[in-house]
Amino acid sequence: MTFATLGLIEPLLRALETLGYQTPTPVQAQAIPAVLAGRDLMAAAQTGTGKTAGFAVPLLQLLAMEGPKVTANSVRALILVPTRELAEQVHESVRQYAEHLPLSTYAVYGGVSINPQMMKLRKGVDLLVATPGRLLDLFRQNALKFNQLQTLVLDEADRMLDLGFSEELSNIYRVLPKKRQTLLFSATFSDAIRLLAGQMLNDPLSIEVSPRNVAANTVKQWVVPVDKKRKPELFVHLLRKNHWKQVLVFAKTRNGVDALVEKLQGLGVNADGIHGDKPQATRQRALDRFKASEVQILVATDVAARGLDIEDLPLVVNFDLPIVAEDYIHRIGRTGRAGATGEAISLVCADEVNLLSAIEMLTRQTLNRHMEQDFEPEHRVPDTDASGQVVKKPKKPKKPKASGGGKRNLGKWVDSGEVAADVPAIKPVRKVPVFNTGPRKRKP
Ligand code: AMP
Repeated sequence: MTFATLGLIEPLLRALETLGYQTPTPVQAQAIPAVLAGRDLMAAAQTGTGKTAGFAVPLLQLLAMEGPKVTANSVRALILVPTRELAEQVHESVRQYAEHLPLSTYAVYGGVSINPQMMKLRKGVDLLVATPGRLLDLFRQNALKFNQLQTLVLDEADRMLDLGFSEELSNIYRVLPKKRQTLLFSATFSDAIRLLAGQMLNDPLSIEVSPRNVAANTVKQWVVPVDKKRKPELFVHLLRKNHWKQVLVFAKTRNGVDALVEKLQGLGVNADGIHGDKPQATRQRALDRFKASEVQILVATDVAARGLDIEDLPLVVNFDLPIVAEDYIHRIGRTGRAGATGEAISLVCADEVNLLSAIEMLTRQTLNRHMEQDFEPEHRVPDTDASGQVVKKPKKPKKPKASGGGKRNLGKWVDSGEVAADVPAIKPVRKVPVFNTGPRKRKP
């Protein structure tokens, strides 16, 4: 199959060729004809599957071939994304795909001055990428109208709900034209997402390109049990021992990010951090420098976990496990993309055993453990498995014998094995009248 056989026009084919896209990925093969045919979509696709081109390319074709010229302050297609970084990234992809088309595109998000955005929207834009909060601000200040809107895309919809955007989404939904095409992309499908889909989609085509809640099986995953207070020391030890070159590290809190970055920088390691408290420009600069390999270690909260496309990232380290098990899949989805192999290592302390158990249940695999020599925890991490069982009363670790005799852990890494493939498909979307997914935490 080629992009030409999917019915794409020449200017788009030329742009894809320049980008080196030769064959459509599975999500593209399914989504492109459906979007061109005007269908609504409900797609379960993880980042790294090529989903951005899956929706953006046919969308650009529709904008180029159909519909009126955009008028002042109007938008014809809207892509909603959860974070500023993702807005920039999706817009950059859109710009590349639209290179040979006479269409205007733009991205708006919070954390930067609203005035230049208002100015830019005066003439109207064909395709707008936006975060929900800033979009509503612009709408309320009359900088935006939706009467020309023909297509709405919700990208990383589950993440938008996790970040507490459900109220913004329902406010946006209320002011959009009822007659429109809607495409919903989500890595995971919780009940809240199904409610959203029931409200927003009209007879959608369901697409699922990878099993639900299963990480790419090109990612080797390990857990290293360790005492909480020794995590920074263990991280530095592993970094040096394994000569890690480029690592994306996830920490739970903003303070955790800052503390680890400070420690690494203090040791002369080239590290930077991103989290919700940092100004947008600083976050973007850190990310750009990491992508360009000018920064070796990027430490982030989950704000950076979704959708960020970093080419050939070999390693993700979970310095802390995520509170929400699904975030584990998104975090480790930064590596092993587009068929490449990657590694994901989690430093797990006894306190985190329930989080580990939830991750194993969700991903239906028992993560292999690797005990790092000299870092064996005093507070043992109880055994867990994919059934969700935690062995609550662990046996006391054997005391090492005074001389020789006892077996030592030789520090071998073991592959985590295959992940479960028999995951049920998405249930058909039901129409549900109410849409209230409840407030959640914002800004991780
Ligand atoms: P996404 O899942 O949209 O974030 O895309 C993941 C990565 O795959 C990005 O670097 C894309 O540029 C790349 N990509 C998307 N589609 C293709 C394709 N058909 N062939 C090669 N690379 C692709």
